[in-house]
Amino acid sequence: MNQDNQRRCLQCNKVLHGRMDKKFCDDYCRNSYNNRQALADGEQVKNINAILKKNRKILQEYLGESAEMIQISKQKMMDAGFNFGYYTHHYTTKKGGVYTFVYEFGYLALEGERFLIVKRESDGSAKKNVH
Ligand SMILES: [Zn+2]
Repeated sequence: MNQDNQRRCLQCNKVLHGRMDKKFCDDYCRNSYNNRQALADGEQVKNINAILKKNRKILQEYLGESAEMIQISKQKMMDAGFNFGYYTHHYTTKKGGVYTFVYEFGYLALEGERFLIVKRESDGSAKKNVH
């Protein structure tokens, strides 16, 4: 290794002296750095949670209070701002249909760019009439 390759503090970028595995000048820099990382992690989680929350709300609003399932066009979901890249889990029925779930609300792709939206019971079992 080139000795001119000076190691620098990950927080303040000052040149480091001493142990080779040293990453920070002192505890202050270490703490500042770790806090910043934690904040960045928190932001990531917050952003994704916000997308999931919005997706859930869209499904919830389309399904309404009383309906057990409803059909809707993909375009309508996209217009509402639904983000198909974010979901919580999948559920495969015995017949091989794969529902994509956002918390308790799920959707199944149908023919013709349409989706079937369903709500899953809170006990974790799918509604009996979901096929
Ligand atoms: Zn430092």
